[in-house]
Formats: sequence, structure tokens, C-alpha cells
Amino acid sequence: MKCCIPICNIPIQCFSFMPEIEDARMYLCIEGKTALVIDPSLSEEAFVLLKQAGVEDVTVLLTHEHYDHISGVNRLCSSFNCNVVCTEICAKLIQDPRKNLSQYYRPQHIMLVEKKQISAFAQIQPFSCHADTCFSGQMKLHFSHHTLVLTETPGHSRGSLCAALDDQIVFTGDSLIPHTPVVTKLPGGSRQDYKIYTLPYLCSLPNDMWVLPGHFDGAPLKELLKEVKTYVTEG
Ligand SMILES: [Zn+2]
Repeated sequence: MKCCIPICNIPIQCFSFMPEIEDARMYLCIEGKTALVIDPSLSEEAFVLLKQAGVEDVTVLLTHEHYDHISGVNRLCSSFNCNVVCTEICAKLIQDPRKNLSQYYRPQHIMLVEKKQISAFAQIQPFSCHADTCFSGQMKLHFSHHTLVLTETPGHSRGSLCAALDDQIVFTGDSLIPHTPVVTKLPGGSRQDYKIYTLPYLCSLPNDMWVLPGHFDGAPLKELLKEVKTYVTEG
């Protein structure tokens, strides 16, 4: 567990997927017998925490279709009563190992890591999973006494969304990552879509919100907006 962020009476716990390589982030909130999980990875620690808390129902929110944000979906669905929520486009793409990039994941990462770490990836197979609830445009999602406003934000990928929690926190997936240019060059990515849909959305949020991104530590939205405007106009 990387950190624990107490906001609006809900502790948000954060877990890192392959911290030395890409540090993809999974977020978890437990409230009684229910939990909200954002971008589940294969975290044993998170899984044990859910079991120990006696959680029964889990809302699983996917910020987008890429493997490093969905690897734990099937594991959760096999153990809890899950409602997997994402955009309509994401719901289609997560079913296809080529579109969710799991097909290419192992070779890609073997190139990136030392030989001794290869065994850690040997278990990654072409992966697919399914959504239960999907939307296009915008959707409200209630968790405990909190409201998440989900908004489709294509640009990094076709199936991306951002989720604003009580106007205080925004989960941005890979649509906004601190100190990192937005990646729009993967299949389905579009710089033009990012400029048309995602950047205006981010600029429309109350700028005292806190960003919890898909990789690395969170940061104030105000700071990151300055960065992202530079990346988008320079590129
Ligand atoms: Zn991604």
C-alpha cells in the first residue's frame, strides 16, 4: 500500500502495480460491506484487505482499457459481487487482448526490464474482461454518501474517462499524469480528441481539486493544468 488519503471521511488507499517500472495506481475505498475500486491491478495486499473487511459488493471503475489499469478485474469478479463500470467504448476494447494491449504487454516489458525480472511477467497472458455498466458522455455514480461524476475523456485512448468525486478529487487515469506529457500515440490515442474533449473538461473543474492519476503520486489540479496546457500546445 503506497498511501492513505483521508478525504470526506473515506480513506482512499493506493496500491502500485510494478512500482519500479511503470507505477500504475489502483485506488480503493471501503465503506462497510461495500467498496469502490478504481483501476484494479493484481494486488494481493488489496485483495486481502477487501476480504478481511468482509466486503461483499464492489464497484469497479475503469479509467480506460489498457492492461495496466484492468489486470485485477477478473480476480475481483471471481471473489466479490462486482459491478464493473466504464465507458461504452472501453467496454468493447477490454474484451480484446490486442485492444487492451495485454497481447503486447509481456514482450514490451521484457525489452524494458532486466532479464532477472522476466519471470515476473511470464504469467501475463493475453487478457480480457467484461463490464456490467457502461455509458457515453457523462454518468453519475453513487458510492456510499458520495457522488462520482464520470465523464468520457478521449485522447489518451478511445475509452478513457475521468471521475470527479464530490468536487474534491478527480481520478484521471492516463488522461492527466503529473510531470509527464500526455501519451496520445498508442493505438486509439488522439491529440486532437484530447484538445477537443479532455483539456476543456479538465479546465472546467474547480481548480482547487486534487488529482489522483493513473501513474505516480497525486498533485493539485491547478499545478497540473499549467503543465498539460504546455504539453498540448508544444507538441
Ligand atoms: Zn493507458
